[in-house]
Amino acid sequence: MLRDERSPDPADRGARRRIVGFHQDDEAYWVADLDCGHSQHVRHDPPWQERPWVVTAEGRQRFIGTTLRCVLCKTE
Ligand SMILES: [Zn+2]
Repeated sequence: MLRDERSPDPADRGARRRIVGFHQDDEAYWVADLDCGHSQHVRHDPPWQERPWVVTAEGRQRFIGTTLRCVLCKTE
């Protein structure tokens, strides 16, 4: 059963920003570079976060140009 999609969710705050590229952090997790100048982790860390696409170059390429919510760009 789906809960109310409008319920407050910290992971769903922030402004939508476009992904312009990816890099890896010191622990080899992938980080999306956003067009606002911020970056955001896109971990593939099952079972909590499933993003199998992020570990392949082809998968990452597919997500360039899509949007993520940037928690550092909260709406004022
Ligand atoms: Zn931002």
